[in-house]
Amino acid sequence: MKAKFKTSCVECGDQISPGKEIAKNGSGTWVHKHCAPEALEFA
Ligand SMILES: [Zn+2]
Repeated sequence: MKAKFKTSCVECGDQISPGKEIAKNGSGTWVHKHCAPEALEFA
């Protein structure tokens, strides 16, 4: 899905801008889609 708010990615530490593709990591925290574990990419 796409980010609605500006936040930061706990995996790489970079900012996530609104409109960027995001996903949840194993802890349920939003991260960049490309930073999420592969198993959760399609969740
Ligand atoms: Zn990231």
